[in-house]
Amino acid sequence: MTKENIHAVVSGLREELQTLSDFIYDNPELGFEEKVSSKAHVDLLEKHGFEVEYPYLGFETAFRATYRGKKDGPTVAFLSEYDALPGVGHGCGHNMLGTTDTGAGIALSKLVDEIGGTVVVLGTPAEETSGVKVNMADGGTFDDIDVALCTHPSDGNYKSGTSMAMEALEFSFYGKTAHAAAAPFEGVNALDAVINMFNNINSLRQQIRPDARVHGVIKNGGEAANVIPDYTYAQFYVRAMDLPYLKELKEKVIRCAEAGALAAGCRVEYGNFENSYHNMITNDTLSEVYNRNAAAIGIDMSNDDRETMGSIDMGNVSQVVPAINPYFEITNGKKMSLHTVEFRECTKTEFGYQAMMNTIEVLVRTAYDVIDDEALLQKIKAEFAQIPVVTN
Ligand SMILES: [Zn+2]
Ligand SMILES: [Zn+2]
Repeated sequence: MTKENIHAVVSGLREELQTLSDFIYDNPELGFEEKVSSKAHVDLLEKHGFEVEYPYLGFETAFRATYRGKKDGPTVAFLSEYDALPGVGHGCGHNMLGTTDTGAGIALSKLVDEIGGTVVVLGTPAEETSGVKVNMADGGTFDDIDVALCTHPSDGNYKSGTSMAMEALEFSFYGKTAHAAAAPFEGVNALDAVINMFNNINSLRQQIRPDARVHGVIKNGGEAANVIPDYTYAQFYVRAMDLPYLKELKEKVIRCAEAGALAAGCRVEYGNFENSYHNMITNDTLSEVYNRNAAAIGIDMSNDDRETMGSIDMGNVSQVVPAINPYFEITNGKKMSLHTVEFRECTKTEFGYQAMMNTIEVLVRTAYDVIDDEALLQKIKAEFAQIPVVTN
């Protein structure tokens, strides 16, 4: 089996993969509810001879599928997502994302008996909310994995880059109720505390780095206008391009809450309401291999002017194992936002299907190089070893 056979192997899977992507499109499920979607992936992987742990790591809709080649070699992991969004279904294209990465795993499994190595496909729930890749990164999932690859549909072919580190913080303020007209002086106003917090953060904003973001909402601001609220609740996302600054900023945001509570005479409690995401650290050596393989089949990855940037749970993975997260174009030349109906529909077009198949081919060619070229894997690992160790 040579690299030249990959196109034929991948093409042979087209019908099954298109069916999987369409099926998940038709059955959109929110994070942690992806029962039908995860099962569809698992069924296909089992059909192709993978051994599957499902549920995995205590998550009902997570899985770990393994195919061990007849010869030893590196272990390559592909990460699949399949969660949808409220209102717009697969507006982020995770029906196609998951299918691309699962498809790459299946295609690579047809090669490893001959070239050696192990293929792992990880089903990773709830990327849009409390991404389980975080639990996987913390829980040792990647201890025996050499490289991790994930690709995301987009409005352009963008090479793997960075993403923002993010903390999901919640704040509860406790005061004392009172009649707002008859005896307001007997109350302790928890609404004032949360409003103070927002004002403090607005002051803080002038002094924060341009790459940082702090944005929140008041989810509970009290019950009735004639009752001094004794309880309010707010959620914030705090983001920055690196973990040390994120930590610094988080402390400042907490001080804004504490000062707001102090001024209003309230008590404040805080914590995390979702997993925290680390910033993405692309392994440039691995990324270059991907980009070169893309160029070999006519896809130009040199464009890196991706406009929107958020936080992805692949960030946590990238800090425990060499990883990449490039983007592939499914929009046929049109610029558009993700999380829209317009983008969702692109996952059902001929252009989208072809982009998915091409991307699978690039992923498999990249994995082939990692397995085939020992010096390359050493170079990937040497680069990874330079990443500063995360301290929480
Ligand atoms: Zn997404
Ligand atoms: Zn998304």
